[in-house]
Amino acid sequence: MEDFKQIWEAVRTRLKERISPDPYNRYILGIVPLGLDGVVCTLGISSEFFADWLKNSYMDWIIEALEEVTGVEGIEVEFETGHEVYEDHPNVETKPSAVKPKAAKKPVKKKEVVEERKQMSTLNPHYLFDTFVVGDSNKFCHAACSAVAGDPGKQYNPLFIYGGVGLGKTHVAQAIAHEVLDNNPKAKVECLSSEEFLNIYVDAMSQGKQNKFRKHFRGLDLLVIDDVQFLKGKEKFQEEFFHTFNTLFNGHKQIVLTSDKSPQELDGLEGRLVSRFEWGLSTEVCVPDLETRAAILKQKQDSLKIQVPNDVIFYIAERIKANVRRLEGALMKLVSYVSLTHEPVTRELAERLLGSIFEEEVSSEVTVDKIIKSTAEHYDLRVSDITGKKRLASIVGPRQVAMFLSRKLTKLSTPEIGEHFGRNHATILHAVQKVEKEISSDETYRLSVSKLERQLKMG
Ligand code: ADP
Ligand code: MG
Repeated sequence: MEDFKQIWEAVRTRLKERISPDPYNRYILGIVPLGLDGVVCTLGISSEFFADWLKNSYMDWIIEALEEVTGVEGIEVEFETGHEVYEDHPNVETKPSAVKPKAAKKPVKKKEVVEERKQMSTLNPHYLFDTFVVGDSNKFCHAACSAVAGDPGKQYNPLFIYGGVGLGKTHVAQAIAHEVLDNNPKAKVECLSSEEFLNIYVDAMSQGKQNKFRKHFRGLDLLVIDDVQFLKGKEKFQEEFFHTFNTLFNGHKQIVLTSDKSPQELDGLEGRLVSRFEWGLSTEVCVPDLETRAAILKQKQDSLKIQVPNDVIFYIAERIKANVRRLEGALMKLVSYVSLTHEPVTRELAERLLGSIFEEEVSSEVTVDKIIKSTAEHYDLRVSDITGKKRLASIVGPRQVAMFLSRKLTKLSTPEIGEHFGRNHATILHAVQKVEKEISSDETYRLSVSKLERQLKMG
């Protein structure tokens, strides 16, 4: 069932944003999409063990993502065991330096498969230059990226790509990795989010394998680190990264970085690291104009093999402006719905089905009220706990997180944030410092706060 495979692709993309890389690679990538019949979705999995694990830990997420993508409510999931997941799954994302995407189809022995899985990277097979639509908003960035991909380590090093959420930074950065590998299958390439990079480092440290870590990362031809802003406050790791950076740079090996802010605006990163980020070329991806947004939708629908009339394409592109990911999500929802119901694709249908996404767009700006509400939900508290005066530790901690996120995600000053919490600016400042300190010393805490932050940023 081709349609369902495409739906599953979109579901996986959502899950990938919500679940940390390790469990995502371990559990979600192993799922084989079998079919969606009415509200019953059948997923293939290798063993009962995996099925149980998924049911216990990830069921809500999977159902939520399926419902979001298809627009169908009340989805139930059934697992079918006995599927040899990795042997011929067309969508397995393999580590670029281990196996190229095109070679992934050859039958592989189980042991190799496991080995490969261990090394799995997050390189997305769809993030290619061919699928990247170029418009005024990104043409400079695109040109810089293709120059770097064609001649890595020579022209712009490092290449620093920055811009808002969902505007194609990860796409274009991974396109460089794909092209470098296409040109030279033996190239040693790593393409990681800064969080993954940090996690690998922490693992290596805890197992006494620093030397192996260094040898590996300092021996690369291309290192792509996505979302470097998350390295804020990780001083020890920044130092390690600084040395990796220098070795690669001096060896004329290419470094590509992405971030939500320009190097000049990055705070919480060591000055000497930031100044190196500025050595090469910084390029911004901006919000695409209407024509580019429509072209992105058209390109996407071609790959989905469902015809969406031009007026519907423009109708969607006019309403969703600030985030290409949301634009794609809207199209996917429409197409999934139509492929299941066979209704004609009209503006009326789009309006009926996508109303909530359009509303999201309007209200996507992160506000202190939203932060307070999400933080309360995240920690299983009431909004009044967060804004109230209780001094219980179980409430003070989350309250400080809400203050910290308000400072980080809104443009408000500390006194303005204070007003929302009925506190003065010193209290907000104290909370921010407290949370920053905790984040740099406690990994679990950091993951929990960054998950909340991601949820907020996704609207
Ligand atoms: P960012 O890393 O900036 O948050 P992503 O690279 O994850 O954004 O892009 C979000 C989604 O939008 C991806 O599915 C990506 O393929 C798509 N996208 C963004 N810009 C473009 C573009 N110019 N052409 C085609 N697809 C795009
Ligand atoms: Mg990204």
